[in-house]
Order: sequence, then structure tokens, then C-alpha cells
Amino acid sequence: MAKYENLIPRFLKYVKINTRSTPNATTVPSNERLTKFAEGLVEDLKAIGLSNVHINAQSSYVYATLPANTDKQVKKLGFISHFDTADFNSVDINPQFVENYDGHSVIKLDDAGKYTLDPAVFPNLKNYQGDTLITTDGSTLLGADDKSGVAEIMASAEYLLAHPEIKHGEIEIGLGPDEEIGTGADHFDVKDFGADIAYTVDGGPLGQLEYETFNAADAQVEITGTNVHPAEAKGVMVNASQVAMDFHAMLPEHDRPENTEGREGFFHLYSMEGTVDSAHLSYIIRDHDRQIFEDRKKLFQGVADQLNKAYGSDRVAVTIKDQYYNMREVIEKDMTVVDLAKQALEELDIKPLIFPVRGGTDGSKISFMGLPTPNLFAGGENMHGRFEYVSEQTMEKATDVIIKIAQLAEAQA
Ligand SMILES: [Zn+2]
Repeated sequence: MAKYENLIPRFLKYVKINTRSTPNATTVPSNERLTKFAEGLVEDLKAIGLSNVHINAQSSYVYATLPANTDKQVKKLGFISHFDTADFNSVDINPQFVENYDGHSVIKLDDAGKYTLDPAVFPNLKNYQGDTLITTDGSTLLGADDKSGVAEIMASAEYLLAHPEIKHGEIEIGLGPDEEIGTGADHFDVKDFGADIAYTVDGGPLGQLEYETFNAADAQVEITGTNVHPAEAKGVMVNASQVAMDFHAMLPEHDRPENTEGREGFFHLYSMEGTVDSAHLSYIIRDHDRQIFEDRKKLFQGVADQLNKAYGSDRVAVTIKDQYYNMREVIEKDMTVVDLAKQALEELDIKPLIFPVRGGTDGSKISFMGLPTPNLFAGGENMHGRFEYVSEQTMEKATDVIIKIAQLAEAQA
């Protein structure tokens, strides 16, 4: 029998329920599906035997507590995951199983073989020799991002309740909606949650531990032209689309997503529209380094200022909004939360994979609310689409890691 008998069945039950979040929604959570799913989680968490199970009315996060079984003063640990899925077909998810994968075969997702998992395209498949893989049938995503995290956190709590000989402090569980549309963590209630240090269990492959993210801003550029008849335009027309192209050309050419990697930041033009009369450019600005991030925003505004000077009027209006910051700024003040995870991985013979994330996690916001929250692997690969898959064995190891962190925190208190 599997060590965590409900881990995979619970995961399969959850992925079959459509929890796709709705971009640009004005409600919290972003749709009714998520509310219903949250209510189901409450029942399941209560059935496991957890305490203080409730839905936070403001955030729609589901919170639960596993009480301590030691008298020691242990830091309260939190484990967080999201149950919404990305913006991709999530109707009738039909998980497929590849048992004892040989590490080199091409896996057919649909019967016709239109979609495949091919190690030549997805080299990480080679890491899963001997594993049982759970894949899609090619028509939907899988939702391992992040129902694997949900199932792992629940399995670890269930295991600890069944094994009182494993001593641990109080453990808080937070399962939330709308991570994929970037709004879920905005409503996270650190006080209601009640942890001292926490982890999102929302990373990818085995061993991943992330505590460094981008600093992030969204930047909108509104350009106003002067539209006259082209025949009589000389010296009069200001073509907003031309000004938009000039604007983009004045940004550093190298600093684009397609030219950068590692710790290199960028300006990413993700949408543009324009006529002679007006034009609109939408960017995101990213950098791991806070100072360089601030400098990037200044440079961006500087380009607008320069163009306004050239045209002698306020034709280019820039609005920059910070989205999240590099959690490292918070976490490096006390590395306990990272050290615990690293030690847990090492004791379980899992090689820690620690790299700066070229993006954000829920933890990048939650850390700045005062709760240091790095990100642990949950196991998913190729997230957000039909090629998503996860290994059962990796999910078991992620569960092992959660339990080990709880154990170590108690032992070191
Ligand atoms: Zn995720």
C-alpha cells in the first residue's frame, strides 16, 4: 500500500473538478466554481480531523490548523497552495497514467497521437525513469499546478495526525483561489493564517526551492497624436503610432525577454494598438535587483519625458504600477525558513535546486505582508497547458519534505 493512501486519489478527485480562474474578474474569488471548490475543501479538511477549518470571507482562502503535539515552543509553520488552474481548457479533465515509465519513450496523450510527450521536446521526461506519470488526454491542462500542492499538504497533515510519535509544532494550512490571475495573494490574511514562517508548495520538479523572485511593475503608455489629412500633414501631423514605435525603439534593445536569462531583467511589450490619433503600449518591467528595477522605471519615464520634450507637449503619458517585489529582501533577514527546507531536502537525499525565479509566486506578496514564504516543489511539469504532467513518486517526496520540515522545526526548537 502506498505510504500516503489518499494522496493520489484526492489529487485525481480534485483535478477532475474545473477550477479555472477568470481573468479580469471583479469578484473574489473570480468565479462561483472556486467558491464551490473551497466549500468542498472545508468538508475534506474537517474529515481529515483538522481544527479551525474555515473560509476567510475576505480572501476566500480556506484555512485550517493542525495543532501541536509537543510542549516545545516551535515556530508555527504554514503551508500554502492554490486550487485554481490556468487559463486553458479545464473542462472534463481526464487524467492518463503511464506506469513504470522507461524514461525515453514518446507518450501519446490522445488516442490519435496528435499530442505527445516526447523526450526530444521535453527533456525533463528523462528524469522520470521507473515513475508513474499522470498526464492529460491532450484536450485540457492537468491542474497539477497546483492541486498537487493541495493534495500533498493534505496528505502530510493526515499522516502527521495518524503518527503522533512524530513531534511537531502548530501547522497552518492555507489553500486559495486566483493565483493564476495574480490576485489571490492580494487578499491573503496573514493574521488569520497565524504562521510565523511559511512555504508555498507550488514549484515544479523535485528539489526546487525558490526564495528569490523578480521585482515587478506594469507600465501603460498612452500616446496622443494630431490627426490631419496626410496631404496637408507637413509640420502638423503627429502620428501617435509613429511616436509609439519611437518609444519602443528608445528602450534598450537587449533588455527583452527573448534576449535575457538568469538574473537579467527586461522591458516586455505585451500589447500595442495604435492609430494616427492615439496609441497605447502595455509593458511589464522586471528585475531581480531592486535598485536596477527602480532605475528601469526611471529610464522608462525618461523616454516619455524625452519624447514630450521633442514634441513640445505632453503627448506621452506613462502610468507605472508596482506589482510585487523580490521576496529575498524579506527572507534574507532571517534565513531559517530556507535553511529548514534545504536541510529537509538533504536529509531526504533530494538535491536542492535553488535558482532565482523569473517571475513571482504568491510568496512574493505574502513575504512583504510580513510572513516569509519561499516556494517548494510540488512536482508539476509543463504547467498551464495540455503537456502538463506529474510523477506520483515526486508527489510522495514533496509530502515527505513537508513532514520533514515540520519534524526539523520541532527538533531544533
Ligand atoms: Zn501554481
